[in-house]
Amino acid sequence: MSQFDADAARAWVAAAAAAVKENADHLTQLDSAIGDADHGVNLNRGFTAVTAALDGFEADGPGAVLVKVGTTLISKVGGASGPLYGSAFRAIGKALAGPGVDAPTLGAALRDGLAAIRKLGAAAPGDKTIVDAWDPAVEAWDTAAAGGLAAAAEAAAEAAEAGAKATAELQARKGRASYLGARSVGHQDPGATSTALIFRALAATVS
Ligand code: ADP
Ligand code: MG
Ligand code: MG
Repeated sequence: MSQFDADAARAWVAAAAAAVKENADHLTQLDSAIGDADHGVNLNRGFTAVTAALDGFEADGPGAVLVKVGTTLISKVGGASGPLYGSAFRAIGKALAGPGVDAPTLGAALRDGLAAIRKLGAAAPGDKTIVDAWDPAVEAWDTAAAGGLAAAAEAAAEAAEAGAKATAELQARKGRASYLGARSVGHQDPGATSTALIFRALAATVS
């Protein structure tokens, strides 16, 4: 795939929704260890609503699709992750003009998504959040972007998965898990784990 267009955006979201559904129990289990046991439930509700919202939605490019995804997540998901992911998808969508974009342009949009997450949640890398998967993913994307969409997305997915795994060693400094202090160490962060699913879904879509 040389251009990421509206159909690709829809396919990414469909793959992410399927992954969230399939892994909902696992995400909720991770959240039961260091949060309030609702992360999988929250995201599954959100992506189910997104799937319904995109059905019959007319879009002239990937940007409109992803803005719709973000707006829906913000309105349908309670909890920290809804506004964070919703803002990210809205920012990605706003950065994508026209009917299709190349790998460097999508990488810049994904970086805008990270900026939106950090602006809203004020988490830095190492705080044991979504940022710990999203930040290495956009770094890896940029490094690989000259090789095209498939190469960039595969590198980003691998980096997000490694980042999510590495959150197990971290002490949480943001979100509910931070209430546990040192007791948050030893558990993988649910939000970083769902971010890895979202980047893996993108890699599967553009491969
Ligand atoms: P809640 O904690 O409100 O129940 P979720 O369970 O859906 O919301 O999402 C929890 C995840 O949200 C955490 O695992 C973490 O990755 C992410 N998160 C929480 N606070 C922040 C923040 N300030 N910045 C980035 N991510 C955050
Ligand atoms: Mg929770
Ligand atoms: Mg909650």
